[in-house]
Amino acid sequence: MDDKPVQTLKGVGDAIAVTLGRMGIHTVGELLEHFPIRYEDRTQLRKINDIRSGEFVTFDATVERGEVNRIRGKSIARLWVRDETGQVVLVWFNQPYRATTWKPGVKVMVYGKVNRFRDTVQIETPEVDAMSHSESLNTARIVPVYPLTQGLGARTLRKLMAAALETQNALMETIPHDIIQSHHLMDRSGALHEIHFPSDWETMRLAKRRIVFEELFFLQCALAFLRRQRVDDRRSVAHQPDGEKVRRLQENLPFQLTDDQLTSFKEISADMESSRPMHRLLQGDVGSGKTAVALLALAKTIENGLQGVLMAPTEILAEQHFQSCSELLGKLGIRTAILTGRVKGSARNQILQALQEGKLDLLIGTHALLQPDVIFRQLGLAVTDEQHRFGVGQRATLQGKGEVPHALVMSATPIPRTMALTLYGDMDVSVIRQLPPGRKPITTAIRLGKKAREKVYHFLVSEVEAGRQGYVVCPLVEDSEKMEAQSATTVFNELTTTVLRNVSCCLLHGRMNANEKENVMREFVAGSISVLVSTTVIEVGINVPRATMMVVEDAARFGLAQLHQLRGRVGRGSDRSYCVLLHNEESGGVPERLRVLSQTNDGFIVAEKDLALRGPGQFLGYRQHGLPEMKMASLADDVNVLEEAREAGIKLMNNPQESATMTTLLKERFERFFGILFTG
Ligand code: ADP
Ligand code: MG
Repeated sequence: MDDKPVQTLKGVGDAIAVTLGRMGIHTVGELLEHFPIRYEDRTQLRKINDIRSGEFVTFDATVERGEVNRIRGKSIARLWVRDETGQVVLVWFNQPYRATTWKPGVKVMVYGKVNRFRDTVQIETPEVDAMSHSESLNTARIVPVYPLTQGLGARTLRKLMAAALETQNALMETIPHDIIQSHHLMDRSGALHEIHFPSDWETMRLAKRRIVFEELFFLQCALAFLRRQRVDDRRSVAHQPDGEKVRRLQENLPFQLTDDQLTSFKEISADMESSRPMHRLLQGDVGSGKTAVALLALAKTIENGLQGVLMAPTEILAEQHFQSCSELLGKLGIRTAILTGRVKGSARNQILQALQEGKLDLLIGTHALLQPDVIFRQLGLAVTDEQHRFGVGQRATLQGKGEVPHALVMSATPIPRTMALTLYGDMDVSVIRQLPPGRKPITTAIRLGKKAREKVYHFLVSEVEAGRQGYVVCPLVEDSEKMEAQSATTVFNELTTTVLRNVSCCLLHGRMNANEKENVMREFVAGSISVLVSTTVIEVGINVPRATMMVVEDAARFGLAQLHQLRGRVGRGSDRSYCVLLHNEESGGVPERLRVLSQTNDGFIVAEKDLALRGPGQFLGYRQHGLPEMKMASLADDVNVLEEAREAGIKLMNNPQESATMTTLLKERFERFFGILFTG
């Protein structure tokens, strides 16, 4: 990379430097990574007598004469050019110098949009290159089109780019030679030339592949580096093979584990038996049974004489975990306690003391677990549920509660493989794909218009009368909790005075304080409320098996992944469940994402579609994960290159000698692009 300031390039004065700076371009290297957003094919040369009005054309011609006129304070520069078949007038407004830039007799190449003005063929603000230049940048070639900013024209930028491509440093190779060879990559210098000024489409495609590879390669090196660091420097307790407690817990579970659950646990168990700290993500759709797998892992650490911790994002979720497992674990002599914000005073002190003395085996809780006075005697395994609800720092704090505990994080957000490799490239991943047997798949329907909506609510009433419960989810209002709350309130008022008049309903939205929310949720869980009218605040992961119906108002206003998450709150019992997506006919056709949901219940398919429909930038708000922004690579499209880059990155980082020679280069790159990864 060339760190020389852009001012070292010919043609860059202070004014242009400031303009470039506004686009985040300060060095020659950064300039060269300002890639074209698209290209225009100006390779077809035309004759003047066969160009038509409205066409974009390229032709070569000879300058005849130039002239400047002033009309009402405006200057109009005209340049007459001709070839052997005809004549064209080139016109510029308020750029008088254009009339004299090219002298009569000079050969030029012209590109622009043709219009006829009376009898003359005219092109306004064309691109013109003098043919005496060794290389034309704007015409007669595939021309790069850049993102621009005010005060910086396309021609200027192309000229600067050409100048930058003349410098040596910026073009230095960054990828080891043997990787270039084995992956058939173009060299860096060639690739940059071709990206900016392609010689043809095919070569440009190869150039792009090289740059995409480079971006992904460095990212994968960074992830491999982080992983290796963890492996090199730190040792966890190597656990014994599964023993009595694990076996008995498995026997005592009220169900048979699915194959995916068993495989996941086997992977986790094997990790824990090594002194290399486990760093594993357990992925599985809502309701796939991740908790049982986590409990087995916790039992394993406990039978090894260590302690376990399970952190959940909300009190209700923590309580549910505690309720569902303390009895099961109690039978095995495992001592479990819960620690949330609600636990205070002497109750809290007792827990903390028992924990420190090793008289507690498992602590379940919320963020409250992260407080400094929560000290374990010896923590063997830290489990984070719904990990995306916690920041990287919070997860780290939890793991910091032990010497080097094994770490398991769980996520109900299915992530396509490409994303997983990138977001969690430094983690091992276990996946539960199949749902426990006996689940009836949720029937998802799209309903249009007022009449249909009314019918849907009548159906909800009949579900309630049969002793079941339901959710009504109200439109999301972008960036405004207040308006969201209002819209939910409006729907609540409407429904409770009409169809749901005789049903016990409650309202839940983000404007209510935490206590109010918890109370409503608790009553719903307990079954004393039949229908919950709410915004998207309903808890992730909450288990209300009797809730069989979800109605989503104005569903088109939700994202695909979000709708899938919401839907996961029904279908948790043995009764048939429904998710109805209401859509307003007037707002056009049914959006693709609603259709996707009505076609599949598989979270992984939903995630792939979501990624394809929205692009990775939007997906999961993925910038939050602290990954660098890719300049050219697309995590959705470049799957194959990503896999290659990952393989190359891992191989390189696993070879100490080679990676040492790369380290300076990598460090520099990492700090520049992946700084967040290293501090995060
Ligand atoms: P999630 O993966 O969303 O955290 P849970 O662990 O909460 O899912 O499990 C959802 C429900 O499925 C729970 O009621 C749990 O008892 C039940 N369950 C889990 N595994 C199985 C299984 N193998 N067979 C039947 N039911 C299961
Ligand atoms: Mg869960």
